Amino acid sequence: MNDCLFCKIIRKEIPSKPVFESGTIIAFPDINPAAEIHLLIIPKKHIGGMKDLTLNDGKMLAEIYQVANKLVSQYNLDDKLYRLVVNGGLAQHVPHIHLHLLGGKLKKTA
Ligand code: AMP
Ligand code: ZN
Repeated sequence: MNDCLFCKIIRKEIPSKPVFESGTIIAFPDINPAAEIHLLIIPKKHIGGMKDLTLNDGKMLAEIYQVANKLVSQYNLDDKLYRLVVNGGLAQHVPHIHLHLLGGKLKKTA
């Protein structure tokens, strides 16, 4: 999607500092962190939100959780406080599906 913010980040038209990138997934720090560690994990394929998922996206969803697991270890969060959050409806501001990884003390709601 041409005018989607996260698609622009994926195409490097908007800068980010990826902490993980593969052919299908990218993860980078949230610009407005809601916790000490706040990363966004995103499929490179444009999927608006939960309602747009199909069973064909199953592998991609498993990959997203694998990346989250890898980042949890990388940021030493295994035995600490962390949350994985998916916003929807009015709580979702960027219509490209994404997982928030929030680690450490929360500053506000993601
Ligand atoms: P949501 O409200 O679940 O749609 O989350 C969208 C998130 O994207 C928010 O937490 C924003 O702070 C974050 N965000 C918006 N623009 C950028 C950007 N250019 N780089 C990184 N994160 C961003
Ligand atoms: Zn998009």
